[in-house]
Amino acid sequence: MLTTTEAPVAALARAASDTRQLDAPVTPDQPDVAVLPAARPYAATVSRIERLTPTFLRITFTGPQLHLFGTDGLDQRIKVMLPLPGIGFTPLDENDWWGAWRRLPNELRNPLRTYTVRAVRSDRGEVDIDFVAHGDTGPASRWATSAAVGDELILIGPCLRTDGLLSGVEWKPGDATHVLLAGDETAAPAICSIISAMPRDAKGCAFIEVPTIDDALPIDAPNGVHVTWLARNGDAHGSALDPAVRAWTDSFVSDGHRGERLADVDIENGILWEVPEPTSHSGGLYAWLAGEAGVIKTLRRFLVSETGLDRHQVAFMGYWRVGRAES
Ligand SMILES: Cc1cc2nc3c(=O)[nH]c(=O)nc-3n(C[C@H](O)[C@H](O)[C@H](O)COP(=O)(O)OP(=O)(O)OC[C@H]3O[C@@H](n4cnc5c(N)ncnc54)[C@H](O)[C@@H]3O)c2cc1C
Repeated sequence: MLTTTEAPVAALARAASDTRQLDAPVTPDQPDVAVLPAARPYAATVSRIERLTPTFLRITFTGPQLHLFGTDGLDQRIKVMLPLPGIGFTPLDENDWWGAWRRLPNELRNPLRTYTVRAVRSDRGEVDIDFVAHGDTGPASRWATSAAVGDELILIGPCLRTDGLLSGVEWKPGDATHVLLAGDETAAPAICSIISAMPRDAKGCAFIEVPTIDDALPIDAPNGVHVTWLARNGDAHGSALDPAVRAWTDSFVSDGHRGERLADVDIENGILWEVPEPTSHSGGLYAWLAGEAGVIKTLRRFLVSETGLDRHQVAFMGYWRVGRAES
């Protein structure tokens, strides 16, 4: 069942509004409206493109259902479903999009990639995503760098009508007194959102490695949170981030911790994703690290095995791998 780019996106939106009367803005506490699946597809059209820096492209999407798009902000992750060349989108059942997508043959399965919600303006039905333009090696980067106003894709994200949105948010500092955030350019949208939402008396620091210093973005950080943008300038991923995190941690963490032996994580065939629950750490430092899997794996070993930080105080997300497509 193949259709053009326009038809399935429009059909998806129409089917949803026909059956669920979603045409008016709603709030999650309205009792008389249907509760929808926690993550659901939204037809989305590019309405604005802003080249923020040489690396970051901010793309604003609108869509007939996007006033229902829910988010808790912070590092809220979502999926983007990209058109297949010459095919567009294969229609999927909105209530079982994941199962339906997985059952498709490869040639009909639209590429699915993970991104962070940079901003949601429900009143205008708008969602912003900051894409890293890393060339045409991957379908998402390729799509973003050639996107034009009017282009369509499908966003898969939370719904305002779902009870408890907190799915897809890993920033859980609990009662930590200090925070450490570290990541590469793919983590920059999340780090910017997290820092902007921090209480004004928060303390800690953030290290963000980007391709060039021109990629530094403005962040509204509390006075006690020091943000450092680190330029890689063509060197290997992690070459600027790794020493910066080590130097800061060495000066922050006191002696007396015992290192923990870590089981190896196979980052060639899986992802490194280890996030603690907020109740499991008490006071002290909470660290959140995200980016290229090899870099995050090395920093994990340093923080936990060498420095002795409790694993329950650190969220590690090594989610993309040099030379390997997201699957
Ligand atoms: C929770 C989460 C949140 C994320 N948030 C964002 C976000 O807000 N913005 C964002 O841009 N990315 C974000 N990412 C990373 C993004 O999902 C990956 O970079 C993804 O691989 C991009 O898909 P693609 O189709 O462009 O490349 P793929 O098809 O996945 O990969 C193709 C090739 O490109 C390489 N590649 C992939 N990403 C990069 C990169 N950034 N730089 C250089 N080479 C790369 C791969 O190693 C591979 O060789 C996030 C990932 C996760 C898991």
